[in-house]
Amino acid sequence: MKIEKDASLKYRVLNTVFLVGIFMSFSCSIMNYFLGMGIAVSLISFTCGVITIGLYIAFKTSKNYNLVSMIVAVMLSFVFFPTMWLVTGGTYGSIPYYIIINAGIIALLLSGLKRKIIFSLYALIVGILMVIEYQRPDLIIKYDSMLTRYIDFAFGLFVCLFSVVLLIGVLIDGYTDELRKSNQYFETLEKQNREIEAKNRMLEKSNAELIKAKEEAEKLNRLLYEEKQKLHLLSITDDVTGIYNKRFILSCLKEEIEQSQKVRKKLTVALIDIDNFKAINDTYGHLYGDYVIERISRTITSNLRQNDIIGRFEGDEFLIILPGTSMEEGYAVMERIRKKVLELKWENDILVTISGGVREVDNDESTNLLKKLDKLLYSAKHKSKNLIECKEIS
Ligand code: GH3
Ligand code: MG
Repeated sequence: MKIEKDASLKYRVLNTVFLVGIFMSFSCSIMNYFLGMGIAVSLISFTCGVITIGLYIAFKTSKNYNLVSMIVAVMLSFVFFPTMWLVTGGTYGSIPYYIIINAGIIALLLSGLKRKIIFSLYALIVGILMVIEYQRPDLIIKYDSMLTRYIDFAFGLFVCLFSVVLLIGVLIDGYTDELRKSNQYFETLEKQNREIEAKNRMLEKSNAELIKAKEEAEKLNRLLYEEKQKLHLLSITDDVTGIYNKRFILSCLKEEIEQSQKVRKKLTVALIDIDNFKAINDTYGHLYGDYVIERISRTITSNLRQNDIIGRFEGDEFLIILPGTSMEEGYAVMERIRKKVLELKWENDILVTISGGVREVDNDESTNLLKKLDKLLYSAKHKSKNLIECKEIS
């Protein structure tokens, strides 16, 4: 018997039931014919064999095993075996053995409620057949001799034995096969699970590495940003004083002029220069000169407001931008600073003073404004030094 290797359990059982059924039907037909049970009895078995072949073809072509199983169980239980009971000797013949095999077939082909219902009806039919045989023995077609009965009986018994072994064998083989397949499947799943776990661990590891690399990149980015900020600060500040350098204070001046003209706000600018600085440099040295420049710059800065901007313009010159400030206010600020500088106490008891020019920006552009401031500064120097000039020299 050829059973496909990868067939399901249901398929295997059905296949075996069909082959056993076909064999039983035709063998019974031939046996009954030779035993002289009458042509009608042989024809019934033969017809059953033909129907079983038809069902077998339907089973092979259709995938609806449940429907085919149901048809087979109903046909055997309620048509074939009850008829054969009546025509081949009832309890005296071999059909009771087939009846028992059929109970097994019901158990194999059906399941759940279907199995319970069909089996109950089948048991009822068997009971009714026995009652009929007892009440109306004339309805049962008997064997014409004891020899005929024994031959049919022995043949039926052996066919049934053979069928039992075959069906249970298929069942066990099928079950073992299914078990092996599910074990294989389970092992494959476990292997895949282990691989997934290993991949997961690798992913977690690379994730942690990525997070670390990201953190490092962020740290580097921050450092880079800080370095850029430092570089930017260095590029716009003066080494000696730490205030803005000439380039930057000039760009600030241009911006502030544009802004003040745009929003029509007052803007005052001052140019401050240390008096007689060359002499300080020459007498006490360049380093001391640097110290004086730095201290004067600090004094000016500490007397300015938050918005005011200061930058080193030339050697000992400072440019101070006072946004939103009138000339009077700006002059007052510069005067206060001049006095603060005057009050400073220095080593070597020297006196350091500053002079400056203050001007409110009108329609000037920066170069023009600087020229005017320079003139004011020159005037202050020329007059007396230690002086803030705020009038333009024509
Ligand atoms: P005045 O009162 O007319 O301003 O006279 P002054 O001697 O201050 O003359 P001026 O302002 O022209 O001199 C500036 C000097 O500052 C000239 C230069 O040698 C010196 N100087 C320029 N830059 C630096 C610096 O960074 N450090 C030091 N120590 N001296 C500098
Ligand atoms: Mg000077």
